[in-house]
Amino acid sequence: MKPIEQYDNQHLIDPQGRSIGYLRLSLTPACPMRCSYCRPEVIDDLPNQNTLNVNQIETLVRHLVEHWGLHKVRLTGGEPTVRRDLLQIIERLSTIDSLTDLAMTTNGLTLARDAQALHDAGLRRINISLDSLRTETFENMTGIKGLPRVIQGIHAAMESGLTPIKINTVVLAGDNADQLPELVQFAAERDLEIRFIELMPMGPLANQWAERYVPESQMRDALSTVISHWQPLEQKHDSARCFRVHLRNGQHVTIGFITPMSCNFCDACNRLRLTASGDIYPCLMDQPRGNIMSAFAGKFDPIHFDTLLQQSLKDKAEEHPINGFTTMTILGG
Ligand code: SAM
Repeated sequence: MKPIEQYDNQHLIDPQGRSIGYLRLSLTPACPMRCSYCRPEVIDDLPNQNTLNVNQIETLVRHLVEHWGLHKVRLTGGEPTVRRDLLQIIERLSTIDSLTDLAMTTNGLTLARDAQALHDAGLRRINISLDSLRTETFENMTGIKGLPRVIQGIHAAMESGLTPIKINTVVLAGDNADQLPELVQFAAERDLEIRFIELMPMGPLANQWAERYVPESQMRDALSTVISHWQPLEQKHDSARCFRVHLRNGQHVTIGFITPMSCNFCDACNRLRLTASGDIYPCLMDQPRGNIMSAFAGKFDPIHFDTLLQQSLKDKAEEHPINGFTTMTILGG
């Protein structure tokens, strides 16, 4: 193991030559929603170890930025807004020079109250999950009565200055697959980007995946009633394939498809994932490959941290496995 200085200004490169510049950090496995495709009734493998605290989060992100060229962090969960110290975490991370992108994914339930504070603490971008605009479907898919609050939250995010705001919609046959045009319309009217996500075989619907999965091709067919022209947009590391589309009613909107199943984007994957209890997941669907907590046993040990990281990256899968190892509520989607 080389001393840490010899890695200065270098990048984390995996055995496939992919440069890792993007950390997705799950702040907690807790979430008030019970999304049918995400959160099992009972979580057997809920981590009971320590949760990374605000000092540890700042330390590890600062280290990754300053020594390994990390430039992007997304806070996720579970539900990141469940963390009482969320604003403090964002404030600390927003002071790190060279961290050019600080984003968060949320269910939107608390944004009506907190969007402005999140923006003012230093958050720049936000993705908000919204699976349906119809009360019954929303409640079926998320397990809670929260649609008006999420819509209010989206509006509060728009007013707060968070930009861009992206809507995430997991598409399920038998639930919302026939509702894509109205979701696109909702996004177009508010100048939001919307991303339709293919169901992944992990979590509670893993066993019903074949019946519930809707591939991108079918989503596009379902949208042809409202879309007259698809203009592909160029992107490098985005997991979504994006289009600027012309709606038949004259409006325009950006639509992304996140297609881990029909057309995976593993060859451009620049991500590393950490759970709230420090498990390292080099791949969303693969097993954890180590845990960073031992680097915080006393004072932060950067050399030990780097060893753990490098060992885990050696095992970053070239392509994601067919079935997910854990659930997204623990790992962070
Ligand atoms: N609580 C936040 C939220 O609701 O967005 C962040 C965490 S959630 C796990 C992150 C993303 O993972 C959401 O967009 C969610 O829809 C997606 N997700 C969860 N399970 C999924 C699955 N089995 N297939 C595809 N997407 C999934």
